[in-house]
Amino acid sequence: MRRFDLIAIGAGSGGLSVAERAAAHGARVAVVEQGRLGGTCVNRGCVPKKVMWYGADLAHALELARDYAFDVELHGFDWATLVARRETYIDGINRWYENYLADNDVTLLRGHARLLDAHTVAVDGEAVAADHIVLSPGAEPVVPEIPGAELGITSDGFFALREQPANVAIVGAGYIAVELACTLRALGSEVTLILRGEQLLSRFDALLRETLMEEMLADGIDIIPCVHLERVERTADGSLTLHGGHGRSLGGFEQVIWAVGRRPLTAGLGLEAAGVAVNDDGTLPVDDYQNTNVPGIYAIGDATGRAQLTPVAIAAGRRLADRLFGGQPERKLDYDLIPSVVFSHPPVATVGLTEDEARERHGSAVKVYTTRFTPMRYAPARRARKTAMKLVTVGAKERIVGLHIVGDGADEMLQGFAVALRMGASKRDFDETLAIHPTSAEELVTLR
Ligand code: NDP
Repeated sequence: MRRFDLIAIGAGSGGLSVAERAAAHGARVAVVEQGRLGGTCVNRGCVPKKVMWYGADLAHALELARDYAFDVELHGFDWATLVARRETYIDGINRWYENYLADNDVTLLRGHARLLDAHTVAVDGEAVAADHIVLSPGAEPVVPEIPGAELGITSDGFFALREQPANVAIVGAGYIAVELACTLRALGSEVTLILRGEQLLSRFDALLRETLMEEMLADGIDIIPCVHLERVERTADGSLTLHGGHGRSLGGFEQVIWAVGRRPLTAGLGLEAAGVAVNDDGTLPVDDYQNTNVPGIYAIGDATGRAQLTPVAIAAGRRLADRLFGGQPERKLDYDLIPSVVFSHPPVATVGLTEDEARERHGSAVKVYTTRFTPMRYAPARRARKTAMKLVTVGAKERIVGLHIVGDGADEMLQGFAVALRMGASKRDFDETLAIHPTSAEELVTLR
């Protein structure tokens, strides 16, 4: 039987990073993967999404170009060509990973992994053993359990589309629903966004939610709140109709996209054979050090259900390898102050507590600074896109505990400010920082 120091199950962001770091520390490492290398992020998530987002961003820029007196005439947009170029790019990343693993002495085991016990894994029939096993299987999109749900697609299906749908209903209100709605609309599809509640991005600061909703409506996205879907039906003309409660129905859609959350891919891993505990929703409970309940078995990434973000999985994987093989027994990931961006149009960027969360925790010690303005980019524009920003501070020293931006460039603005928050920056530190003029970001250091 082949033996390793560490086997990672799943070659996505988490599995690849724990494997690579463990190997760098001199461990004998294998990673098991049945699909393409890179997991959700590379193949069905962040990377293809960002290519489509760049396309959508250009569509907006082309509109603005006319306001800047360019005589631009558009002769259409070829979805299939952009998708083909996107997939060529992703194929390159897949190949790069294969070489990278080989160059770093990580053994790639191709096939489906199933635990036989706490130290043995069967990979398509071959049993391999390791002292340490890392579960990094990722997650998959949820499809609601209502009649006709199979007529819709998920984000996986969106990335498989080779033709642009003319008319789409997107069900959901989170990251994926908002990102796909904005991208499809900018590229020319008619988009209806169907919410079960009243708001999109319900866990984000109200200023971001409200500003983004206004911009999306102004872009022509039809947002329909408070719909409780009961079934989906294909009608005689081939289009899809969504039926909700109280006899309400919405019809004429070429595609329906479910964007109602993701669930961990933990079924079929043989977790029961090794005695690994699983939560009711399929996520893997771990402690602060990514330990499951079984010594020698760890879990990282989306399957843990905590902050389903690529950089979180990468950081957790690297820290785990440092702890196991790098002589750093206390190394672990701090899950506080995780910056994140929703690639909507305009993008939303957020780190730390929302105003509501801060008031709940710190009551009257909270002081908030807010601004809403039209960026100079829109000076000659017929339609101005708003930017809004909020700083949430606590205590007499006004330590900044939350920073929220919605507006052009928010995605690239946040990273540096996230460093400042991690260092414990106060409002005074921001005030003492000289502005860069004229930019949108300068508003964050000139708030009154
Ligand atoms: P989210 O957790 O962001 O949102 C799920 C949404 O689904 C919620 O808005 C919820 O609505 C809605 N919902 C749940 N059940 C139903 C239902 N039965 N009918 C209608 N709506 C429903 O999940 P996503 O799938 O969008 O994304 C999964 C995760 O992937 C994200 O949480 C994020 O961590 C990650 N991700 C990150 C991205 C980034 O960093 N840019 C991009 C994409 C994904 P309600 O709010 O009303 O409860």
